[in-house]
Amino acid sequence: MAARILDGNRIAAEIRSEVTAEVQALAAAGKRPGLAVVLVGHNPASEIYVRGKVRSCEEVGIYSEKLTPPDTVSTQELLDTVLKLNRRDDIDGILVQLPLPVQVDAKQILMAVSPAKDVDGFHPVNVGLLSTQRPGLVPCTPAGIMEILKRSGIAVAGQEAVVVGRSDIVGKPTAMLLINAHATVTVCHSKTRDLPGVCRRGDILVAAIGRAGMITRNFIKPGATVIDVGMNKITERAEFDRLFAGNAKREEIFRAKGATLVGDVLPEAAEVAGAITPVPGGVGPLTIAMLMSNTLKAARMRRGGRVPALARETA
Ligand code: NAP
Repeated sequence: MAARILDGNRIAAEIRSEVTAEVQALAAAGKRPGLAVVLVGHNPASEIYVRGKVRSCEEVGIYSEKLTPPDTVSTQELLDTVLKLNRRDDIDGILVQLPLPVQVDAKQILMAVSPAKDVDGFHPVNVGLLSTQRPGLVPCTPAGIMEILKRSGIAVAGQEAVVVGRSDIVGKPTAMLLINAHATVTVCHSKTRDLPGVCRRGDILVAAIGRAGMITRNFIKPGATVIDVGMNKITERAEFDRLFAGNAKREEIFRAKGATLVGDVLPEAAEVAGAITPVPGGVGPLTIAMLMSNTLKAARMRRGGRVPALARETA
């Protein structure tokens, strides 16, 4: 039987509408949440991501400000920009779009963002708060994964969860959230022995690898929930045919654009899984929705008042 498709667009829209209502209430009390996005230089991919984030702020009513230092900026100049934003009362969230130019010490910049305004959840203070189950700001993609599971009615407590990938941005925080939600968690990486065998233990399998279609049906326990975090752009015909041979809709996209987006999970996995997130339209939309939710949460936590229910549960 074909897997249930977990519709990330629908879940993200649900979250955005909840955030919109809370933002309206805060704005009415004179505390409109604000997000500052720092975009250095002219990286085309970063420009697209930042545009999406600013548009999303407009949709939910969050004030947004884009700062665009030139790609010649020094570490000290960027530090000054961040420290100024830390001091501003109308700014609740600060997001420094990565990657930064080589001359900039990215770690120093990320460490300088006030943990209370760290809406990416990358600051070691927030990492520590997550691992000790205290309220803080949780990285957006992992928080989005938990929302997909929760809002799709997928049980986590007591389940075997396998996370492939151990990055600070996705793999590790996802594993931590799953542990906090009482799953039994295994984290895999490039040195894991018998990866298919370990993955087949998972009632929940999260693939955050960055390798197009690496997870085949052989990695999946029948009926498992598969969360595909990968976002890989395919431009070569041979690769396209390996992944999507016979898929007329994808063929149309590939012909028109010369590229298509594919996850880390091979589409055939849907024949074995019980539920699966599509790419595109799965985890991706949740990432921006959770950025909005994090900005709202940061505003609530910093300016007083209650922490919104959504934020409390993903803390
Ligand atoms: P990353 O920092 O490159 O980490 C990749 C992880 O995968 C590493 O832990 C690596 O292991 C592991 N890995 C690589 N090859 C492997 C193999 N053959 N077998 C087992 N493990 C392997 O990537 P990331 O930032 O976590 O992102 C992962 C994917 O998610 C990318 O496709 C990215 O574009 C996507 N992503 C999507 C969203 C979204 O919003 N949907 C957000 C963020 C990221 P080692 O640690 O041993 O090297």
